[in-house]
Amino acid sequence: MKKTDGMKYIPLFFLAAICPLLVITGCKSKSGPAVARIEDEAMGTTLEITVYSNALDRSALESSVKAAAKEVWHVEALMSRWKTGSDVNRVNAAKKDEWVEVDPQTFEVIEMAIEASGMTRGAFDITVRPLVDLWGFGPKLKVNFSKPPDEKIQEVLGFVGYRNIKLDAERKTVSFAREGMTIDLGGIAKGYAVDRAISVLKKRGIRHAIVEVGGEVGVIGKSRKGRKWRVGVRHPVEKGSLFTTLEMKDEFVATSGDYQNFFIIDGVRYSHIIDPRTGRPTRSHIASLTVVGKSCALADALATGLTVLSYEEAIEILENLDGLEGIVVRRLEDGGIEFHITKGLRGRVKLSE
Ligand code: AMP
Ligand code: MG
Repeated sequence: MKKTDGMKYIPLFFLAAICPLLVITGCKSKSGPAVARIEDEAMGTTLEITVYSNALDRSALESSVKAAAKEVWHVEALMSRWKTGSDVNRVNAAKKDEWVEVDPQTFEVIEMAIEASGMTRGAFDITVRPLVDLWGFGPKLKVNFSKPPDEKIQEVLGFVGYRNIKLDAERKTVSFAREGMTIDLGGIAKGYAVDRAISVLKKRGIRHAIVEVGGEVGVIGKSRKGRKWRVGVRHPVEKGSLFTTLEMKDEFVATSGDYQNFFIIDGVRYSHIIDPRTGRPTRSHIASLTVVGKSCALADALATGLTVLSYEEAIEILENLDGLEGIVVRRLEDGGIEFHITKGLRGRVKLSE
């Protein structure tokens, strides 16, 4: 094992990647092309990048992997609410109608987030941040188990609404039309970081790679076995087992689920995803929602947003969005599950036994 700048490059055959919602499979081999891999942390979660090539040597691969990881950390520095001086924190510190200039990447993500709000009928809304704080969701797990009083929820709901975000595309500036508003890019930034990392790898001539940030995954080319990359989606109910394996080529997958980060009060399960219509953690019966598409940022945002809606509504939206496919899993009263795989994805999904 070789260490560079605190990052770990680990021979591929040692590892099967484990991440919160997805498991990377199909990449075990002891010989063959040059391989570089990094396992680290970013955005409060796991970061894994694996590349291989028959044409490039190991050091070229390692520097590409390093550049891709740096790009992920750059996105984190711009968009994390846990980093002092991030664009998100600067925007959130501004007063009503005060314009704040942000990095073009942050601007792009906010634009995409608003697009995702429209696609999810308002369920995805980055202005839920005051509610996320009110309910006490911290950087990793819940930090506060008490349920806020109804009057407080109503009061804080007044600060929520993506339509009150104002954007100036020419100046790359952002402002809020109402006092007390704040944004949270936690539902989209991981996906965007995957998009960026893949784009860095492509620019450096990498043709086969898999990138994962906290369970959001992007792939290019093929796995070392010469077939499509296979990405496993964890079972939302049966802990430790896989629900499905997806075959992927030059695309992205994101999964959200109410089993990922939640708390229980009086026997009721509250997810870390907030319903912007009610101001409360979502109580829909969707246990897991996977979106596959050509943009990881969009897949990430849709996976988060559609989880808020009913099972039927999430399916209807996914079936009608061009270029996007998905799997919606719902929890049944008897403890079992029911699921729907969109038409375009059916041939590419292998259900686990
Ligand atoms: P994900 O892990 O991608 O499903 O994103 C969950 C994170 O998105 C939460 O931890 C919050 O930071 C944020 N979030 C929660 N509810 C919403 C929502 N309705 N719309 C947008 N972001 C949300
Ligand atoms: Mg998301």
